Formats: sequence, structure tokens, C-alpha cells
Amino acid sequence: MGDYIVKAMVMDGKLLAYASTTRNTVEEARRIHGLSPVACAALGRCLTAVGMMGIMLKSDKGSITVQINGNGPLGNIVACSNSKANVKGYLNNPNVYLPIRPDGKLDVGSAVGRDGTLTVIRDLGLKEPYIGKVQLVTGEIADDFTAYYARSEQTPSSVGLGVLVDTDGSCKAAGGFIIQLMPDFPANMIGVLEEKLGKLSTITKYLESGKTPEYLLNLLLGDMGLEILYRVPTMFNCDCSIEKVERAIYSLGRREIEKLAEENEPLEVICDFCGKKYTVETDKINEMLK
Ligand SMILES: [Zn+2]
Repeated sequence: MGDYIVKAMVMDGKLLAYASTTRNTVEEARRIHGLSPVACAALGRCLTAVGMMGIMLKSDKGSITVQINGNGPLGNIVACSNSKANVKGYLNNPNVYLPIRPDGKLDVGSAVGRDGTLTVIRDLGLKEPYIGKVQLVTGEIADDFTAYYARSEQTPSSVGLGVLVDTDGSCKAAGGFIIQLMPDFPANMIGVLEEKLGKLSTITKYLESGKTPEYLLNLLLGDMGLEILYRVPTMFNCDCSIEKVERAIYSLGRREIEKLAEENEPLEVICDFCGKKYTVETDKINEMLK
């Protein structure tokens, strides 16, 4: 089955919920970037989160970019999604290996680092993008998104993200959820919800055994009158093209293009997101100067 995101609500929208299964998406990222297990978990969690954030965008032309820099060995992590949950991402150092934590989990927090920020750039195709930034809490990524929603968007949320890496290094299961409380959500229900979230064991344990995102949401919200609204596919899909590469060079400005023209050699450009190689011929560079 392909990856997808499900959107649901309870109490006529007083609570909104998103849940996803993203194994193929994360596996594609691993294949493209040659990610170590802990790098796969870190980037995979970001790609899972950003896909759900993508379908929250209120504009078809919108896009969302998440940047995490925790000053850990993985370096910068970048993940993007459009409003159709086509996601892409990369991180600086894909070959980071750290000892497994005492509880048997990958040490994502130490690999990401905790001394830095999570930045969310929401571009709705208007003049200025909306930018929100928070200090990282644990570097485990889900906690950091929860902090982002609380502090930057003033929306009390619970974010859960999981990536299970198999013994051969491939992604065995991945997915997540984002639950958001609207201001009119009854305060006396918050405790009940928190208790259920506390009891929920690792997300990937369910997904690995063939359970669906709908099953997860039902587990959490079934007795509050869960209403499934729709499902959308999500996938790793880079939208780079030679035209975009040329436009990026053009935007460097006349002086930079003159320097390139003087070198008089075809310019090799590699897409950070998908590793695709582009060659810009000297003719094209000279043409830009006209
Ligand atoms: Zn690309």
C-alpha cells in the first residue's frame, strides 16, 4: 500500500487530527542520500511531519519548509512539502553513527543536537512568507514540533513521529500524527486525551504490524466521535528542473554570472534534495548576460 495522510476531526472541528504512514517516502530519502540509521530516523521524522503540515496549507500554490539546526553531528536538516504532500528533504551529514540508547532506540536527539532552533517557513504564494522559529527542546523532533505549535502558533498540539529502521538499514515502518486543539475544545477533556496519548506506545509498532493511520486515530479519539474527513497520498517527489536551476543562476546577479562566463566551462549543479545532476552549458550562461 502506498503512503498516505488521513485528516480527521472530533466535535465538529474542535479538535483536528492528522495521521500518516510514510515508509516508502522515508525509504526513498534513505536510498537517495545514503542515510545511516540515525540520519534516516531524523530526516524521516521531519519528512513525515512536513507532509502533514503541507496539507494544512490553505493555498494550493503554498509550500512549507522546515529547517532544524541543533548543532549536532547531522548538521542542518531541511524538509519541504507542497500542499499535495509531495515532500523532499536532505541533511548535511548522512553518515552519522551513534551508539543505540539504553532503551534500544536510535539516539536521534544526540544526532540532531539540542543547541539550536526549529524554523518553519510557510509560503502561501503571497509577498512575504510566514516564518516561525523556536528553540529546540530535545532534538527528538516530535517534541520540538509540539513546542513550535505551542509557542509560535499558539495551538496546543500533540505531535508523534516514528521511523523504524530494519537490521539491513532500510526503513521498515514510518509514520506520525498531529493532533490540534482549537480554542473551543472543552478543557475538561484535555486530561482524558493526555492520558490516552501517554498510553500510546511507539507508533511504528502499530504500523509495522499492518495497522493503519486510521486505526491509530481511532485508538486515540474513537470514543470522542472521530470523523474521518479525507485521505491524501504522500510521497518523496522533488520538483527540480533545468529551468529552476537556470533561474537560480540568473538570480545570482550580473557580477556572479560574469564570473561564471569568464570560467568558460559548463556548470555542474547537483540538486540538494534528490541528487539529480544538471549541466548548464556556456552558451546558456552567455545568453543570460544579454
Ligand atoms: Zn531535485
